[in-house]
Amino acid sequence: MKLVLIGPPASGKGTLARFICEDFNLPHISTGEIFRENIKKGTELGKTVKPYLDKAELVPDEITMQVVKERISKDDCKDGYVLDGFPRNKTQAELFEPMAKMDAAIHLNVDLKEIEGRILGRKTCSVCEKIYNTRYYDSDTCECGGKLYTREDDDIETIRRRFAQYETETVPIISHYKNILKTFSGGSTPQDTYEPIKVYIKEILTLDK
Ligand code: AMP
Repeated sequence: MKLVLIGPPASGKGTLARFICEDFNLPHISTGEIFRENIKKGTELGKTVKPYLDKAELVPDEITMQVVKERISKDDCKDGYVLDGFPRNKTQAELFEPMAKMDAAIHLNVDLKEIEGRILGRKTCSVCEKIYNTRYYDSDTCECGGKLYTREDDDIETIRRRFAQYETETVPIISHYKNILKTFSGGSTPQDTYEPIKVYIKEILTLDK
């Protein structure tokens, strides 16, 4: 099953992707995570993309497409994967079309007010990238033992900019996937948001058989 998650920044996409990947045994492909990992390791790719991530601007399509192409050619992707944060604009969606046929597109609908509330407490694990919210999790250490940190692009001003970027760049891909798209409300807790999505994925898998 090849699935794409579409939603604004801090809408819960990353957490949801983890739930789906665990339950359905699929690899999680987050382009943002790949870029951050490369920056941390100081690779050539990391050096090239750092200025874009620092400014919360989109990495050029050519670089992003190459990263995704390489990632999906790995052995663990042969039975499918969950895309999180890619495609990010219409060009990426169009260039990706001949590379893979997606089975489902899940669109998370969350408004800016809710996102602003969440971003204030968002912390990310420096080792496994699991996301926590200090509203519900009162510790500086992840379950895996990694230290939690606040992503540099997690502040109100940046999130407003990233939300505007989502509306102009990413919302147009919703129509690109209209034949396989289903919209869910992402306004509640991650577990509550996930329940109907899990049911939906199971339905698709049953229809596929
Ligand atoms: P994310 O973790 O998805 O919020 O992405 C963090 C940052 O990585 C973004 O602000 C962009 O700078 C970059 N990025 C992630 N995915 C993409 C993509 N598909 N295209 C271009 N830039 C991306």
